Amino acid sequence: MEKENLKYVSSGKAKDIYESSSGNLVFEFTNRVTAFDGKKKSEYDEKGEITCKIAEHWFKIMEKNGIPTHYIECPTSTSMIVKRLDIVPVEVIWRNYVAGSFLRRYRAGEITLPEGVGTEEGSPIPGGMIEFTTKFEAVDRPVDTDEIIANGWLNKEEIEYITDLTKTINDIISQELVSSGIILADFKVEYGRTPDGQIILADEVGTPDGCRFWKKDDFDKGVITSLDKDVFRKSIGNLSVAYRELFNKLQGTNI
Ligand code: ADP
Ligand code: MG
Repeated sequence: MEKENLKYVSSGKAKDIYESSSGNLVFEFTNRVTAFDGKKKSEYDEKGEITCKIAEHWFKIMEKNGIPTHYIECPTSTSMIVKRLDIVPVEVIWRNYVAGSFLRRYRAGEITLPEGVGTEEGSPIPGGMIEFTTKFEAVDRPVDTDEIIANGWLNKEEIEYITDLTKTINDIISQELVSSGIILADFKVEYGRTPDGQIILADEVGTPDGCRFWKKDDFDKGVITSLDKDVFRKSIGNLSVAYRELFNKLQGTNI
């Protein structure tokens, strides 16, 4: 996109960030992908465009459902203008099924699973559950609410608010995905504070970079087929192809 009138701010693992003359941020969604805290890296055709369009799709749905977000508009197919926020230094994870780092931590003996939850990838977590990790440390590390409060990152009421909001986001996306034949296994979101102290949804939502999406027909047969970044993490296919398939399935939801 036109870089005139834009001031370069920084580059994250997947997005380049600029500031516009009006003080908003402009995300440029790139084709970069990383996993395992940046240790595995690559680039895939179309990734930026598909991720941007999917994030735009879900931000609009969130706004329609009363979830406050930083989204303003997408001026091009790979860029998004958002309100600049003070990012809460905690990543918020919602889990509907056992997968990813949750399973790894269980197998390493670091955690116990909730009562009655199976120990396989894909075991359901009835009612879902929330987890928090650090955001601005070299390696994301799980943190409990006591540490979040003790560090002054969020107070008790803010944690409750964010928990409610994240559960609602889960319910909205999961429900919308039913007609596309996709299961939302888990996802990560970030929140930020506006200058007047309101906490709103930041970064991106509902993208295959930040969610685990499984094909429901395969899942019902006992097979997990991922349409998300696990394709890259586990080296089980071409990420462009998986993201394109997800995008095409979402077309059914009028993306
Ligand atoms: P990361 O490597 O941290 O995942 P990304 O490539 O996803 O980075 O780029 C987005 C960065 O911008 C993240 O660090 C995220 O916390 C930050 N960010 C997201 N939304 C906002 C916002 N509204 N204001 C300021 N920073 C934001
Ligand atoms: Mg990111």
